[in-house]
Amino acid sequence: MNVFSFCDIDFKKPKNHLPSLETPFGTRSIRDSLAYCNRCGLCLQQCPFYVLTQEETFSPRGRNQALLLLIEGKLNLEKNKKQFLRLATTCSLCGRCTQSCPGKIPTPQHLLELRRLLKVRFLPKTLQLLLQWRADFPTLFYGLTQSGLFLRRWGVVKLLRFSGLANLLGCSWLHQIDRMIPPTKKAIRKKWSILKKEQEEKPSLIYLPSLETELFLPDIAISAWTLATQKHRPVLWTRTPTGLFEYVYGNVRKARQQLKKLITRHAQLQKGTLPLVTDSMDVYNYLKQAANLFENYPGWKRKAVQFSQQVLFVTDLFPQKKINVGAIATPVALDTSALFKTENTPSKNTQKILSTLFLKNFVYCDDRQADLPAFGYGFVSKNNANQLRLLAFRPLVKKEIKTLFVFSGWALMEAFAAGKKHAPQIQAMHIAQLNG
Ligand code: SF4
Ligand code: SF4
Repeated sequence: MNVFSFCDIDFKKPKNHLPSLETPFGTRSIRDSLAYCNRCGLCLQQCPFYVLTQEETFSPRGRNQALLLLIEGKLNLEKNKKQFLRLATTCSLCGRCTQSCPGKIPTPQHLLELRRLLKVRFLPKTLQLLLQWRADFPTLFYGLTQSGLFLRRWGVVKLLRFSGLANLLGCSWLHQIDRMIPPTKKAIRKKWSILKKEQEEKPSLIYLPSLETELFLPDIAISAWTLATQKHRPVLWTRTPTGLFEYVYGNVRKARQQLKKLITRHAQLQKGTLPLVTDSMDVYNYLKQAANLFENYPGWKRKAVQFSQQVLFVTDLFPQKKINVGAIATPVALDTSALFKTENTPSKNTQKILSTLFLKNFVYCDDRQADLPAFGYGFVSKNNANQLRLLAFRPLVKKEIKTLFVFSGWALMEAFAAGKKHAPQIQAMHIAQLNG
């Protein structure tokens, strides 16, 4: 690999990289996007890795400068490969830097290009393979995951973990996933499997659950479905990859293929006029930026723009009338963590709703105080992960929070695992569950 490889992003490998990025200030090449960082440093304290390490190199500003030097040929990739690998592997793509940046520099997108260039593989091989099968061999993927969940209920996964067999089989990640899945009542599981068989002839809304909701968190799916049925005739789209996994862990080409399938399926149903609602802010942010993937394909770009305009987050379905908050323990806080976090309408509206419902019992936490990093996508080292969880939970414990609302199934699983260790008194709930 020569020093100019990174430049190829713009010109020679549009299929494997994004040639340019959509920013609030227009379309920019990766190089321009990097050059627009004016090094003001406003993002520094928002980056969890900078807060942990206090190293400029691992701040968003440092990362952008290193990548710019690489693009300009002033840094040699081969000679500095170790350092660049660290840069790529210590960003959880949380997007907090972009949110706090006056120029809205998309640092996580820059880091994704570096990941693709270095062909970084974050996930353990077996997990990576399993997740790739979701799109390539769906029957095998869903068969294996459903059998795994069945065996987990019978304690087989624990047995594999404790006997060391999981490590031998290259599945040490089972430990992490096992700790993160909250228990679900049998009645809820049954209700979810009945719901999955329901068909709506003339739907007025599409509900697309995230993978983690579909597999591990049927309570969230049922809450989102209940919300959707208040005003709409929803249709459920399970087993529908969006390409997000490929975008973050695979390659852009595969992500684009998945997205094309999704856009085509959406367009075929009532001429693409139906709103599509997701329960994951990660998926929402990704689908809203779908046009980014089609910079060199004007026809598809147009379709992607039209499609993304139909995407909703589950809180967009909240009723106007007063929500019955029932027995939710207060004080409450909101964790707004999400992949590629940006200031978006659902996030602002949710804060408004919570502050109206809970008044002084809604404790506003600034971004640094309540934010579970998007580990699922960064897959940072175990040590860093624990430190980051502590960083997110310490202020919540200090403020004696009893209920923590989150924006995605993955954040709920993170909060469940972290809460068990750092704050068992905090109950984490997905925001869709606010409505019962
Ligand atoms: S990324 Fe944005 S906030 Fe951070 S140093 Fe650059 S311009 Fe400033
Ligand atoms: S995306 Fe998150 S982890 Fe990555 S540089 Fe920005 S703030 Fe830091």
